[in-house]
Amino acid sequence: MEYNADANTFSGNHHLGLPQVMWHITDVCALTCPYCFSTKSGLGTPFEYLEPIAERLKQIGVLKVDFGGGEPVSYDRFGEAVDLCERRNMHLTVTTSGVISPRSRRWLLENQERFARVIVSIDGTSMIHDRLRGRIGAFRDALGIMTDLLGLGAKVRVNTVLTSVITREVITNLQRTLEAELLPEWCLIQPHPSNAKEHFESYAIEDVNFRTLVAWVREESNSETKVIERPRSAYVGYWTLHPGGRMRPQGTGAEDGEGFHLLESSLEEAMRELGKVPVKVPTE
Ligand code: SF4
Repeated sequence: MEYNADANTFSGNHHLGLPQVMWHITDVCALTCPYCFSTKSGLGTPFEYLEPIAERLKQIGVLKVDFGGGEPVSYDRFGEAVDLCERRNMHLTVTTSGVISPRSRRWLLENQERFARVIVSIDGTSMIHDRLRGRIGAFRDALGIMTDLLGLGAKVRVNTVLTSVITREVITNLQRTLEAELLPEWCLIQPHPSNAKEHFESYAIEDVNFRTLVAWVREESNSETKVIERPRSAYVGYWTLHPGGRMRPQGTGAEDGEGFHLLESSLEEAMRELGKVPVKVPTE
């Protein structure tokens, strides 16, 4: 199997081990999205784990690491984690809310070229996004980092979780805003119950409603911004590496699979555990 960094997709059928992993390098995040699928444990990856984790990820076949969280760019030693993965020739993407310190922001802008995608999460128009995220100014920060990244020629994608508060009018207004900035890629995501928080169900949407809203966006599209969709089912089989070092596969429900500890398992045990879940990666 090969990873195509331009398209951010995989091709080929056979792969020994795991082609991609979502590394939740920290669970710390200043925001409070009620549909968040991070465990929000408040923990970051212990610094002494960074190098052994990068090494083990390479050994189990990882071609691409998706850094997420939590807010990965705010993790104290994020640059070091990026270095360690890069040195082992693994491709990288990162997802940010844009609500980060000036220092982290500067680092991201200076290092954007190291990522196949810098993904900015924007879940609605200004007031709705701020309300969902629990922070006034969150939309301004997200849009600001997106436009600065685009200005630098970064490969930017916006991820939008389509929750129950998103009407056709709201999504069209957001679409116009993103298109006006010449965003190349926009990914629409159905809320997933993984690690569901107390009010998740109030924000979840049925498959049919998700499909209807995506169809509407496609109809309204100017065709310059590529629209990608990720229904809930798309994430089944994705593996997440949690800050404590545990690898867990996503299923359809609130509880991820039991998985295994990346550093406490032998390479053979890790490969055996990974082999129990069919490989799932984004393809063209
Ligand atoms: S920004 Fe991301 S990690 Fe933070 S609360 Fe929202 S969904 Fe969770």
